[in-house]
Amino acid sequence: MSHDENLHWESYLPAGWRPLFRQLLADLHSAGISVRVTQAKEKFGELRVYIDRPDQAAAPLIAAAEQRSTRMCQECGAAGELMVGNYLYATLCEKHGAGFTKPLGRPMISLNLRYPKDD
Ligand SMILES: [Zn+2]
Repeated sequence: MSHDENLHWESYLPAGWRPLFRQLLADLHSAGISVRVTQAKEKFGELRVYIDRPDQAAAPLIAAAEQRSTRMCQECGAAGELMVGNYLYATLCEKHGAGFTKPLGRPMISLNLRYPKDD
């Protein structure tokens, strides 16, 4: 559960969110929460952080960081909002959002739900 092990995930994140991710790790550490990050990435213009096990203390801190990412340019960390361009969603400031447009709504995710008994 080393800090460095978790920190390496920041290289998978857009530059603008790396300080946000580092702050999350610092907050987890100072709250005495020891979790292992198993993945950190951008998905549909939002930060996603996954940990190795459910943790009731870590969950709200992670959710808060993910929520903050929706208002923070993923390129530079300035105030941003969800934009879309070339079918890609990204949270961008005015400068980095040049060429992007505001989407009509949040990204839609279609799930193909199947149950084991259907197999
Ligand atoms: Zn920006």
